[in-house]
Amino acid sequence: MRLLSLKIGWLSGKKFKYYILGSKSLNSSFIILTFNFLFQFFTYDVVSLYLVMDEFYKEALKEAKKGLKEGGIPIGSVLVFNGQILGQGHNKRVQEGSCVLHGEMDALENAGRQPASVYQNSVIYTTLSPCPMCTGAILLYGIPKVIVGENQNFLGAEDHLRNNGVEVEVIQDPATIQMMRQFIEEKPELWNEDIGVD
Ligand SMILES: [Zn+2]
Repeated sequence: MRLLSLKIGWLSGKKFKYYILGSKSLNSSFIILTFNFLFQFFTYDVVSLYLVMDEFYKEALKEAKKGLKEGGIPIGSVLVFNGQILGQGHNKRVQEGSCVLHGEMDALENAGRQPASVYQNSVIYTTLSPCPMCTGAILLYGIPKVIVGENQNFLGAEDHLRNNGVEVEVIQDPATIQMMRQFIEEKPELWNEDIGVD
């Protein structure tokens, strides 16, 4: 976490400072707004904190919600190269009667055939910690970075990714955790099937 910038803004004629803190690698940042007020001879600050969600993670989450609406397992994924989405998708096991279309696999499939150099400079986002199958695909294509929405409901093969030099960042997004928790409670049989458990 570091200070990315310090700026001055104006709101209704009042001057305020705001700080953008965050981690560039996460593509997400926190904005801290500090409003300065003058009260007689004293000034005081009102500080508020805003979390700015990564735009690409937002897309992954949208995909997960799309899957949920379709009656599927709510896991979404986005493959990003050079600041552009190459492919995005969601878990379609139920929708397509597929045994391999996890969110990450669907995003990779929708990105089509790409040269090795593209995968090697891409980032894959996924709303849930990647299972061993998706981890295998990430390693096969040499994708160097994975941004994970949460690993509270399921901890995949993150250690295997890290041991093979892949950078893994876990956001622990509360909305994603809640969505997945509720789905597992409501449809345990679909969830168990997805992770290969009876
Ligand atoms: Zn998977």
